[in-house]
Amino acid sequence: MYDALRTEYRLSCPVRGEIGVTLSAFRQLERLPGAAHPAVYRIVFDCSCGGQHDGLVSHDDLDWAPLGLSAGSFVDLVTRRDAEVGEELADHAASRIRAGEWPWSFFCYPEGRPRAAFPSSFFLLAPGSRDAYGLAVRCPSCESTSINLVSQPHVDLPFHNDAEIGVVEHVFHADAERAVEEFRVELASSRFDARRLEL
Ligand SMILES: [Zn+2]
Ligand SMILES: [Zn+2]
Repeated sequence: MYDALRTEYRLSCPVRGEIGVTLSAFRQLERLPGAAHPAVYRIVFDCSCGGQHDGLVSHDDLDWAPLGLSAGSFVDLVTRRDAEVGEELADHAASRIRAGEWPWSFFCYPEGRPRAAFPSSFFLLAPGSRDAYGLAVRCPSCESTSINLVSQPHVDLPFHNDAEIGVVEHVFHADAERAVEEFRVELASSRFDARRLEL
Protein backbone atom coordinates (compact mmCIF):
# COMPACT_ATOMS: atom_id res chain seq x y z
CA MET A 1 0.00 0.00 0.00
CA TYR A 2 1.21 3.50 -0.82
CA ASP A 3 0.26 6.88 0.64
CA ALA A 4 0.61 9.29 -2.30
CA LEU A 5 0.06 12.40 -0.18
CA ARG A 6 2.98 11.54 2.08
CA THR A 7 5.00 9.71 -0.60
CA GLU A 8 5.38 6.73 1.71
CA TYR A 9 4.77 3.01 1.46
CA ARG A 10 2.71 1.53 4.31
CA LEU A 11 4.60 -1.41 5.76
CA SER A 12 4.55 -3.19 9.07
CA CYS A 13 6.99 -3.04 11.95
CA PRO A 14 6.90 -5.76 14.63
CA VAL A 15 7.33 -3.02 17.29
CA ARG A 16 5.27 -0.09 16.00
CA GLY A 17 2.66 -1.73 13.78
CA GLU A 18 1.84 -0.06 10.46
CA ILE A 19 4.32 2.66 9.58
CA GLY A 20 5.18 4.95 6.67
CA VAL A 21 8.41 4.07 4.84
CA THR A 22 9.92 6.26 2.12
CA LEU A 23 11.59 4.67 -0.90
CA SER A 24 14.96 5.98 0.32
CA ALA A 25 14.59 3.85 3.48
CA PHE A 26 14.51 0.70 1.31
CA ARG A 27 17.85 -1.12 1.41
CA GLN A 28 17.26 -4.11 -0.81
CA LEU A 29 14.59 -5.00 -3.38
CA GLU A 30 14.22 -8.45 -4.82
CA ARG A 31 11.58 -9.76 -7.18
CA LEU A 32 10.14 -13.00 -5.82
CA PRO A 33 10.02 -15.95 -8.17
CA GLY A 34 6.53 -17.11 -9.17
CA ALA A 35 3.60 -14.70 -8.60
CA ALA A 36 3.64 -12.82 -11.87
CA HIS A 37 0.27 -11.00 -11.85
CA PRO A 38 1.16 -8.79 -10.18
CA ALA A 39 4.80 -9.54 -9.44
CA VAL A 40 5.74 -9.21 -5.78
CA TYR A 41 8.94 -7.70 -4.41
CA ARG A 42 10.57 -8.54 -1.13
CA ILE A 43 11.82 -5.33 0.47
CA VAL A 44 14.35 -4.92 3.27
CA PHE A 45 13.93 -1.50 4.86
CA ASP A 46 15.41 0.63 7.64
CA CYS A 47 12.65 1.30 10.17
CA SER A 48 12.14 4.35 12.40
CA CYS A 49 12.30 1.93 15.39
CA GLY A 50 16.00 1.47 14.62
CA GLY A 51 15.58 -2.04 13.25
CA GLN A 52 15.59 -3.46 9.75
CA HIS A 53 12.59 -5.47 8.54
CA ASP A 54 11.26 -7.33 5.54
CA GLY A 55 8.09 -6.38 3.73
CA LEU A 56 6.25 -7.34 0.56
CA VAL A 57 5.23 -4.78 -2.05
CA SER A 58 3.38 -5.56 -5.28
CA HIS A 59 4.86 -4.37 -8.55
CA ASP A 60 1.90 -1.99 -9.06
CA ASP A 61 2.39 -0.37 -5.66
CA LEU A 62 6.12 -0.12 -6.14
CA ASP A 63 6.12 1.56 -9.55
CA TRP A 64 2.69 3.03 -10.20
CA ALA A 65 1.26 4.05 -6.83
CA PRO A 66 3.85 6.86 -6.37
CA LEU A 67 2.45 8.37 -9.59
CA GLY A 68 -1.00 8.42 -8.04
CA LEU A 69 -2.41 5.46 -9.90
CA SER A 70 -4.05 3.83 -6.88
CA ALA A 71 -4.13 6.59 -4.29
CA GLY A 72 -7.82 6.20 -3.34
CA SER A 73 -9.95 9.11 -2.27
CA PHE A 74 -9.57 11.89 0.25
CA VAL A 75 -11.85 14.60 1.59
CA ASP A 76 -11.27 17.90 -0.15
CA LEU A 77 -11.45 20.35 2.73
CA VAL A 78 -12.09 23.32 0.48
CA THR A 79 -15.06 22.00 -1.43
CA ARG A 80 -16.12 19.51 1.28
CA ARG A 81 -16.61 16.74 -1.16
CA ASP A 82 -14.75 13.56 -1.87
CA ALA A 83 -12.27 13.98 -4.63
CA GLU A 84 -10.40 11.24 -6.37
CA VAL A 85 -6.89 12.33 -5.61
CA GLY A 86 -5.69 9.27 -7.51
CA GLU A 87 -7.23 10.49 -10.73
CA GLU A 88 -5.83 13.98 -10.37
CA LEU A 89 -2.34 12.75 -9.61
CA ALA A 90 -2.49 10.20 -12.41
CA ASP A 91 -3.58 12.83 -14.96
CA HIS A 92 -0.80 15.08 -13.78
CA ALA A 93 1.78 12.27 -14.00
CA ALA A 94 0.55 11.18 -17.44
CA SER A 95 0.82 14.69 -18.87
CA ARG A 96 4.36 15.08 -17.53
CA ILE A 97 5.43 11.75 -19.00
CA ARG A 98 3.90 12.77 -22.35
CA ALA A 99 5.90 16.01 -22.13
CA GLY A 100 9.06 13.89 -21.94
CA GLU A 101 9.73 14.09 -18.20
CA TRP A 102 10.88 10.95 -16.43
CA PRO A 103 9.48 9.98 -13.03
CA TRP A 104 12.84 8.39 -12.13
CA SER A 105 16.13 8.30 -13.94
CA PHE A 106 19.69 7.10 -13.53
CA PHE A 107 22.97 7.14 -15.45
CA CYS A 108 23.72 3.81 -17.15
CA TYR A 109 27.51 3.53 -17.00
CA PRO A 110 28.02 0.75 -19.60
CA GLU A 111 25.83 2.65 -22.09
CA GLY A 112 27.24 6.04 -21.10
CA ARG A 113 23.84 7.74 -21.02
CA PRO A 114 20.96 8.67 -18.71
CA ARG A 115 17.97 6.32 -18.78
CA ALA A 116 14.45 6.35 -17.41
CA ALA A 117 13.72 3.81 -14.68
CA PHE A 118 11.12 2.75 -12.14
CA PRO A 119 11.65 1.76 -8.50
CA SER A 120 11.44 -1.93 -9.47
CA SER A 121 14.76 -1.42 -11.33
CA PHE A 122 16.42 -0.32 -8.09
CA PHE A 123 17.82 -3.21 -6.11
CA LEU A 124 20.25 -1.84 -3.53
CA LEU A 125 20.20 1.45 -1.69
CA ALA A 126 22.41 2.77 1.08
CA PRO A 127 23.06 6.15 2.69
CA GLY A 128 26.46 7.43 1.59
CA SER A 129 28.46 10.51 2.50
CA ARG A 130 27.14 14.11 2.47
CA ASP A 131 23.40 13.29 2.49
CA ALA A 132 23.77 11.29 -0.70
CA TYR A 133 22.44 7.82 -1.37
CA GLY A 134 24.20 5.07 -3.24
CA LEU A 135 21.74 3.43 -5.61
CA ALA A 136 22.27 0.23 -7.58
CA VAL A 137 20.03 0.07 -10.65
CA ARG A 138 19.48 -2.73 -13.12
CA CYS A 139 19.10 -1.01 -16.47
CA PRO A 140 15.70 -1.75 -18.08
CA SER A 141 17.32 -1.36 -21.53
CA CYS A 142 20.65 -3.23 -21.38
CA GLU A 143 20.17 -5.16 -18.09
CA SER A 144 23.57 -4.20 -16.76
CA THR A 145 24.02 -2.77 -13.27
CA SER A 146 25.10 0.79 -12.54
CA ILE A 147 25.70 2.52 -9.24
CA ASN A 148 24.74 6.16 -8.91
CA LEU A 149 25.11 8.58 -6.05
CA VAL A 150 21.95 10.67 -5.81
CA SER A 151 20.02 12.94 -3.44
CA GLN A 152 17.19 11.70 -1.25
CA PRO A 153 14.50 13.58 -3.27
CA HIS A 154 15.86 11.98 -6.47
CA VAL A 155 14.81 8.64 -4.97
CA ASP A 156 11.68 9.61 -3.02
CA LEU A 157 9.95 12.12 -5.26
CA PRO A 158 8.71 11.14 -8.71
CA PHE A 159 9.81 13.72 -11.32
CA HIS A 160 12.55 15.09 -9.09
CA ASN A 161 15.68 14.31 -11.09
CA ASP A 162 19.04 15.54 -9.84
CA ALA A 163 20.75 17.78 -12.41
CA GLU A 164 24.03 16.12 -11.55
CA ILE A 165 24.60 12.67 -10.12
CA GLY A 166 27.60 10.59 -9.16
CA VAL A 167 28.46 7.50 -11.21
CA VAL A 168 30.76 4.66 -10.20
CA GLU A 169 33.09 3.83 -13.06
CA HIS A 170 32.73 0.11 -12.70
CA VAL A 171 30.82 -2.61 -14.49
CA PHE A 172 29.18 -4.82 -11.92
CA HIS A 173 28.75 -8.54 -11.73
CA ALA A 174 25.46 -9.91 -12.98
CA ASP A 175 25.56 -12.26 -9.98
CA ALA A 176 23.39 -10.58 -7.33
CA GLU A 177 25.38 -11.63 -4.27
CA ARG A 178 28.68 -10.49 -5.70
CA ALA A 179 27.04 -7.26 -6.79
CA VAL A 180 25.94 -6.62 -3.18
CA GLU A 181 29.53 -7.07 -1.99
CA GLU A 182 30.92 -4.85 -4.74
CA PHE A 183 28.27 -2.25 -3.98
CA ARG A 184 29.39 -2.03 -0.34
CA VAL A 185 33.03 -1.70 -1.36
CA GLU A 186 32.29 0.99 -3.94
CA LEU A 187 30.12 2.98 -1.55
CA ALA A 188 32.91 3.00 1.02
CA SER A 189 35.38 4.28 -1.58
CA SER A 190 35.20 7.73 -3.09
CA ARG A 191 35.44 6.77 -6.75
CA PHE A 192 32.31 8.56 -7.78
CA ASP A 193 32.56 10.54 -10.94
CA ALA A 194 30.06 13.37 -11.32
CA ARG A 195 28.05 13.02 -14.51
CA ARG A 196 25.38 15.30 -15.80
CA LEU A 197 21.99 13.82 -16.33
CA GLU A 198 20.76 15.59 -19.42
CA LEU A 199 17.05 15.00 -19.59
ZN1 LIG B 1 10.49 -1.26 13.19
ZN1 LIG C 1 21.82 0.40 -19.83
